[in-house]
Amino acid sequence: MSITVDSRRCVGCRLCELACSLARCGRFNPDQAAIRIIFEDDGTLTIAITEACLACRRPLCAAFCPVGAIVSGEN
Ligand code: SF4
Ligand code: SF4
Repeated sequence: MSITVDSRRCVGCRLCELACSLARCGRFNPDQAAIRIIFEDDGTLTIAITEACLACRRPLCAAFCPVGAIVSGEN
């Protein structure tokens, strides 16, 4: 299982970071998330997935995203 992201849909709420840290470490701590929201100087947002991603079978990051910017799917 893997996730795909569409940074154009992201509104920068960072709920995915909280969800990922809960999935990975059992606590809300964005510093421990494998997904990161990068705020660019020009106002755009980028969703970055790090190598720490566990490719969760039921990804909490996708479940928490309110705008469908993260989608789970087969590789
Ligand atoms: S798939 Fe799992 S480990 Fe990867 S970013 Fe989403 S919640 Fe985090
Ligand atoms: S939860 Fe969705 S909208 Fe919110 S920061 Fe993450 S990707 Fe962007």
